[in-house]
Amino acid sequence: HSSQNEQERRYYALFARIFSLEPRNHQEAYEMTRVAFDLSEKYHIPILLRLVTRLSHSRSEVVYGDKRDPNPLRRGDWQDWTLLPANARRRFAALLDIQQDLVREANSSPFNSLTLSPTSSLGIITSGIGYNYVQENINDLDQPPSILKISTYPLPLELIQQLMSAAQEILIVEEGYPFIEERLRGLLGVQDKIIRGKLSGDLPLTGELTPDTVRAALGLAPLPRLEIEEKLLASRPPQLCPGCPHYDTFVALKEALKGYSQATVFSDIGCYTLGALPPLSAIDTCVCMGASVSMAKGGAEAGLFPSVAVIGDSTFTHSGMTPLLDAAAANVNMTVVIVDNAVVAMTGGQPTYATGERLAQICAGLGVAPEHIRQIIPLPKNKEVNSRVIKEEIEYPGTSVVISTRECIQEVKKRAKRR
Ligand code: SF4
Repeated sequence: HSSQNEQERRYYALFARIFSLEPRNHQEAYEMTRVAFDLSEKYHIPILLRLVTRLSHSRSEVVYGDKRDPNPLRRGDWQDWTLLPANARRRFAALLDIQQDLVREANSSPFNSLTLSPTSSLGIITSGIGYNYVQENINDLDQPPSILKISTYPLPLELIQQLMSAAQEILIVEEGYPFIEERLRGLLGVQDKIIRGKLSGDLPLTGELTPDTVRAALGLAPLPRLEIEEKLLASRPPQLCPGCPHYDTFVALKEALKGYSQATVFSDIGCYTLGALPPLSAIDTCVCMGASVSMAKGGAEAGLFPSVAVIGDSTFTHSGMTPLLDAAAANVNMTVVIVDNAVVAMTGGQPTYATGERLAQICAGLGVAPEHIRQIIPLPKNKEVNSRVIKEEIEYPGTSVVISTRECIQEVKKRAKRR
């Protein structure tokens, strides 16, 4: 939910025919990780640990197990790792051969649990964090329902069959896509049972689950809320930090683009994505790491002018270099602005692979004409000269790069604190 789209990794596991584990809390995430390594060694497949937004964005204490040494390294058979068609076909057959074993692992996994109710006709199938939201609310039901907690994929078929036999009405509570619900309904639906979940509209298809949405799906009245006057708590969208170098780059860029009716700024993933929001409103796209450069190239080739990419130093070294190689080889009429804050700021200040002069060398190595690799310092006092440099490179009818280098202000502060 905090990515570009609402991704659902269980489909990857299904597609790849591998085993997946879904924890409901951090303790389970820890324990499942250990189990995942064992299963991976046993079946020679990757195991997918499904983490959802709320779990990834929260913390809790975890009780450690015994420390284990890493397994000894061993070389694989080259025929298993060189996927020429003949090897790939053999490996796929081997993958199909273990599918029933994976189902058996799911049926016997201690992470799945089933509690049958002697009194209620309601059965709840829930997975991961959805289980917590169910637990938060079920004590308010008149009768305790049957609950199947699913933590493994392939789905534990035997446990699902037991729950279906015991319940008349099934509520499915799962984060993300209605993965379990779709499988349970199948193409033809389930006869003589009421199935409720995201597909029936009892739970929302968009956004995260919450204890409140699950409570409503259980037919319980909302809990009393503390009403807060709206004006007391104004919404505060995220912003660039005061003094951020990106701000000054965007101000200069906007100035340089004045008067071009078709100017399009393709941007990327990083703090500078916040340049999309007012008051800057300086970028037109942000899709995925490195997309700024390839989209600017595509835009330029489709006739857009000026076509500008804005990408950070670390995103550039991660996945902006190959599209720049491509653009420079064809000398596409576009300008790449590398907003170089000398650190991986958005994820907490990890070191960057290239900054300043090294970025210029990389761009030259990728084929950009050295005289069209310009370096500027984004400061308010340099606004005029910076916008002039950017405009000159926009007017150059080929591939140009402007590297705008000033250290992230948070890193400067951290260093000052340490001194
Ligand atoms: S963390 Fe650094 S780069 Fe990110 S917005 Fe703040 S000053 Fe700018």
